[in-house]
Amino acid sequence: MPPTRQRRIAMMGYRSVGKTSLVLRFVTCKFDEGYDPTIENTYTKSVNVAGQVYQLQVIDTAGQDEYSVTPNDYYMNVDGYILVYSITSQRSLDIIKLIYNKISDMKGKIWVPIVLVGNKTDLEEDRAVTMEDGKKLADEWSIPFLEVSAKTDESVEEVFAQLIKAIQRRETVKDKN
Ligand code: GDP
Repeated sequence: MPPTRQRRIAMMGYRSVGKTSLVLRFVTCKFDEGYDPTIENTYTKSVNVAGQVYQLQVIDTAGQDEYSVTPNDYYMNVDGYILVYSITSQRSLDIIKLIYNKISDMKGKIWVPIVLVGNKTDLEEDRAVTMEDGKKLADEWSIPFLEVSAKTDESVEEVFAQLIKAIQRRETVKDKN
């Protein structure tokens, strides 16, 4: 078995879109409404992708808005990003565009592993962003896109699996160059 690899990933997005809920669902397999939303935290979980074990450090950021999309540590030293918006908030998708542009500016021409995630699919009656809108953006940026629910656990594992696959692809490309 190859040695465990450590990878750091950051959860980014507007506040209240469900970043913490997604991480907690992934790491503890629970949907918990009783945590302190202001705490910024790093979580660790080991995952096995096609025989390779990864120890993931997931940085759950406090959230960004148009005033706080600034260069900081999150834009450095991470192997990949999960950009989260809520399907119930158009504004949260608008913020994603700002974050994406910031990441692109920081990384220049280097391709960065990113997955776009529309959370809260269980709130279909409050939907404000169509699936097509999310998909269109992801296609424009050539990144994977998933609609998920931290509450019902729809596709949550898949988000992290997709990001690891993108990180693997990035590393294969790097190795060749
Ligand atoms: P963060 O600020 O982006 O980390 O968002 P939180 O994880 O703190 O979630 C904000 C609020 O949305 C909380 O009340 C959560 O319980 C709720 N929430 C998060 N994910 C979901 C989801 O998939 N479905 C529903 N219905 N509520 C969610």
